[in-house]
Amino acid sequence: MSDGQSFRVGVVTLFPDIFRDFLEISFVGKARKNQQLQVELQDLREFGFGKHQSVDDTPYGGGSGMVLRVDSVVPAIEACEEKLGGRAHRVLMSPQGKPLTASLSENLSRYDRLVLVCGRYEGFDHRVRDAVDGEISMGDFVLTGGEIPAMAVIEAALRFRPGVLGNHESVVEESFSDELLGGLEYPQYTRPLEWRGSKVPDILRSGDHQKIQAYRREESVRRTQEARPDLHNHSSASSAPGKVRQ
Ligand code: SAM
Repeated sequence: MSDGQSFRVGVVTLFPDIFRDFLEISFVGKARKNQQLQVELQDLREFGFGKHQSVDDTPYGGGSGMVLRVDSVVPAIEACEEKLGGRAHRVLMSPQGKPLTASLSENLSRYDRLVLVCGRYEGFDHRVRDAVDGEISMGDFVLTGGEIPAMAVIEAALRFRPGVLGNHESVVEESFSDELLGGLEYPQYTRPLEWRGSKVPDILRSGDHQKIQAYRREESVRRTQEARPDLHNHSSASSAPGKVRQ
């Protein structure tokens, strides 16, 4: 679990090049420069077989597509952990996993070492599951590979590492945070004051911070009920105003 060191993340992938810009630019690039994040890319192909270093094969029992071999994937995970300096929390990117949420991201952020395993083709030989600690899904849809999910997990978890975001407030009152009772963020505005007839609400320019907080709390509840009535917890928001940061 997190001991204030760099967040060490390994990624097992057939396409390490997909990560190059992602790791250099913006929030993630900055965290790496500040040594708050270390990412090790492990090319799965290095653990392939034969002339073509194949990592996949046809499924037993027949059917379309190819399946990633357990004897490629597991050694690749182990090699990745060696680069990270020890056993990691191992997670498969998979549509069959737990949906990625803010609280799952926060939990993942507490590990000092994390290995994210990106599938391709028809996914993994089922025995890979015996070697990992969990499976994470982006939602009930199927992507071609686990690389975009792995990037999403890195960003979402990194935001929860202490000191990584310049302004800690931005995780505190973010959508899905405890401070907003798991609901959606209130509407935000910046200049111009008026755009094509649509004005910024007067209250936000009143300078009355208590009224602004109350307005934001109400708007957060309203937006959540409108857009995501399924978000549990939130129904009690209006009756528990003390839980919203003042
Ligand atoms: N045959 C698999 C199934 O039906 O469960 C889907 C394989 S998918 C085409 C190939 C890879 O993309 C998966 O192994 C996984 O790594 C990744 N992937 C696809 N959809 C995903 C999702 N919703 N969340 C996370 N990873 C996903």
